[in-house]
Amino acid sequence: MEVIKLYTQPKHDRKPFYDGGKGAPYKFKCPVCKAKNIIPFESLLHATWNWKEDFSKEELLNIQNLFGFGPTGNSHEGGWTCINFVSCKGCSEQLISYVGFNEYYNSLYRLTEQGLAHIRTDNLT
Ligand SMILES: [Zn+2]
Repeated sequence: MEVIKLYTQPKHDRKPFYDGGKGAPYKFKCPVCKAKNIIPFESLLHATWNWKEDFSKEELLNIQNLFGFGPTGNSHEGGWTCINFVSCKGCSEQLISYVGFNEYYNSLYRLTEQGLAHIRTDNLT
């Protein structure tokens, strides 16, 4: 995985873009072409536990370094790390998104945009 550019850097005190029950997607503009992309809530939730399985140790280290994950493995605002790879709907460029996913109460979630980078990888299918 080659990082072309990091557009959004993690912050401990970034405000969540969503606070509430299940179902909110993550919407973002592609930093390359400005097209709107959407990651459904289910994909976010799923990614909190399975995103690591898709990558080799080396790539995991790459991703950890890119976003500066600490040793606890928590996201920067204290939730779960949620990594999604997206091929932009507009320009087909490869993007990596990092959302802090915090279930702070039973079925109540705070979602925080913590990172967005333009990458090149052979791993996307
Ligand atoms: Zn794009």
